[in-house]
Parts: sequence; C-alpha cells; structure tokens
Amino acid sequence: MTCFQDYWAAVVAAWPGIWLADLLRYLVVAGGLVVALACAPAAWRERRTVRIRQVAGGQPLREFGHSMLTVLVFSLVGASVLLGYHAGVMKIYLVPREFGWPWLLASFFVMVILHDAWFYWTHRLMHHRRLFRWVHRTHHQSLAPTPWAAYSFAPAEAFVQAIFLPLFLLLVPAHQFVVFLWMAHMIVRNVAGHAGIELVPRAWLAGWWGRWLTTTLHHELHHAHGHANYGLYFVWWDRWCGTEHPGYQDRLWALAGRLYQARAARRGCESKALASKEDQTPRIAISPHTLTFSLRARQLP
Ligand SMILES: [Zn+2]
Ligand SMILES: [Zn+2]
Repeated sequence: MTCFQDYWAAVVAAWPGIWLADLLRYLVVAGGLVVALACAPAAWRERRTVRIRQVAGGQPLREFGHSMLTVLVFSLVGASVLLGYHAGVMKIYLVPREFGWPWLLASFFVMVILHDAWFYWTHRLMHHRRLFRWVHRTHHQSLAPTPWAAYSFAPAEAFVQAIFLPLFLLLVPAHQFVVFLWMAHMIVRNVAGHAGIELVPRAWLAGWWGRWLTTTLHHELHHAHGHANYGLYFVWWDRWCGTEHPGYQDRLWALAGRLYQARAARRGCESKALASKEDQTPRIAISPHTLTFSLRARQLP
C-alpha cells in the first residue's frame, strides 16, 4: 500500500510536467505551422491549396478550445502510463542495449504501423451513426480544418486516441526515446493533415509518398465529404477496404501536375532571359495511374 502511495505521489507530482509537454507539443507544431504558412509567399500557398470548403468564422478559436480539453485528457492518460511504468506493467525501457539497437529502430516503425491500424478502425467505428454524434462530430465541425484542429476532439474521442499508447506498452517494449519520437511524428503528421495547404514536396507527391502515405489533400477530402479517407499515416487501409475517396488519386495527380507545371513555367521564364530564341517550352508527361512523372524540359545552361 505504501508502495502504491509512493507511485501515486510521484505521478501526481509529474502530472503538471506531462500536461505542459502535451500542451507545448501542440502549440509549437500547430502554432509554428500557422505562422509559417502566414509568412509563406501567397503564390506558393495558392498553387498548393487543397481547400474544398471555406474556413468558418471563429473556427480556429473553437478548434483551439476543444484541443485544450484534449491536452487535458492526453495528460491524464500520460500520467496513467507513468503510473503503469512505476508499477512495472508498462514496458518502457531506458537502456537501449536492453533489447538491442535493431529492435530500438524497428519498434518505431512497429508503433507507427500499429497506431495507423488503430486509428483507421476506431475512426471508421466513430463514423457509425450511433457513435458519430457523441464521439466524432466535434472533430467534423471543421469542414475545412486548420492546423488548430489537430486535437479538436470531444473528450471521448480524445480518450480513444490516447489509449493506444498504454495498450501498446502493455504488450510491446519500447524505449523512451522511441515513444518520444512516435509522439513527435504523430503531432507533425496530424497537424500537416489539417493544414489545407499541401506540404508534401512535389517530387514525393508524384512518387513514393503519394503511393503509400497520406497527404493533406487526403484528410481535406475526409473533412469535406466524410465517409472516405479514414487513414492517418498510410493509404493502404483505405485502399484495401475500398474506403478511399473515388476522386482522390485524380485530384492528387492534378495537384502534382499543377506543381510541375508551375515549376516548368518558372524555369521557362528564367531560360527566356538566358537563352533567347530557342523553344524553351517544357513538356511534362504524367501517368495518373502510377503517379510517376517525367519532366522533359530543356536544361538550363
Ligand atoms: Zn472522421
Ligand atoms: Zn481531421
């Protein structure tokens, strides 16, 4: 009993720090992206916008308010993880050689892949008509989400999102740095998915990223239309289960093509100044099905 009281006292003492870490993670990444996008050139934003609907008045403030409640839920679940660690039931370890370096590296990918599956299936469940109203409607109040929507959940949804970590650590050993890295990856991908402006580099969109990983466009379509594109990090669950938005690949292809055209046009302007009378018009071949692109433009001298 005394031992439990000691654990409990340690958790209560640590909770403010856990809450602050959860808060800062959200503020730094979401706030940082909002500032970066505001400072980005208007032309860059315009050609990368994937907005389907309009951001409503007062929406960012509402998203921020709900996110503060989520930070509280996350911190309470985080405190329970700490309690579980002290009790010896959470398999967090501190010394890398305990399970070896190969597992330390592999465990990050295991964690991301399992979290993606957890998110996809719980997300689909939350869209069930009996659950949606109580659990997931708060998040979908944003038809055109902003980065502040990353944590804009009802408390029940925040709990479902948070509970993955203790469930994982009950079963799978993970180094504390891997847990930190997974959290950092999660908030970055989450915030980017709600940016309304595609952040994935042009060449990646047209290549491996577009084939395997979700984009801002992917989640924008989910908010605009619901009932499609439930995935978090990878597109494979949506493809395997037939829930990918039917227009997603065409839109992704059009976006990537637009970005390549814009680059070609910029290069064309530069080359006109340098090369005068030769035909500098770039030609772009795009395959919508494979999403592979080849740019056949004359190279600048
Ligand atoms: Zn949803
Ligand atoms: Zn969302």
